[in-house]
Amino acid sequence: MDKVSMSIECPSCKGKAVMTELIKEIPHFGKTLFSNLRCTECNFNLNDVSSDSEKKPVKYSVEIKTEKDLTVKIVKSSTSTVIIPEIGARIEPTVNSQGYFTNIEGLLNKIEESLSFTAFEEEEKDAQKVKEKLMKRITDAKEVKFIFTVIVKDPFGNGALIGEKIIKEDLTEKEVFELKTRMNFLEH
Ligand SMILES: [Zn+2]
Repeated sequence: MDKVSMSIECPSCKGKAVMTELIKEIPHFGKTLFSNLRCTECNFNLNDVSSDSEKKPVKYSVEIKTEKDLTVKIVKSSTSTVIIPEIGARIEPTVNSQGYFTNIEGLLNKIEESLSFTAFEEEEKDAQKVKEKLMKRITDAKEVKFIFTVIVKDPFGNGALIGEKIIKEDLTEKEVFELKTRMNFLEH
């Protein structure tokens, strides 16, 4: 488990940032590259997870029906799209996408966190209501008060769901094209 650190230019403030990389084995997924980019000057902090080997485009899904299902593991890379239709949650790759390895409960916590950081203006009463409704929905999901589906799509095979009852499918060429098109901005 060798950790490698190198000094690079911060993508946010152009100051001196440190990139740390570590390869770890994730059971049923394989060798995985964990990376962290941290800048002490502007506090920029970016984590990512990706497969160490080239993998095929893939789609995973699982139905969460019991509290035990919340322990299903998720590898969410910066290239992964995560969808929970019953909550209306869709996490798409962006320039500052975080990657992480957690379980479904951890994923719900991260969605909750990112929602709570979203600031709404006072006059946007509707936005506030929508947010409250979403928060309630996530709280209920964490207690599995309703059945919901977690879908992970990754055109580079960097993302995965690991556990029982997981459905693994190939992505269609059309889906791969759409996912990659949405990601094009990352290359500029
Ligand atoms: Zn910086």
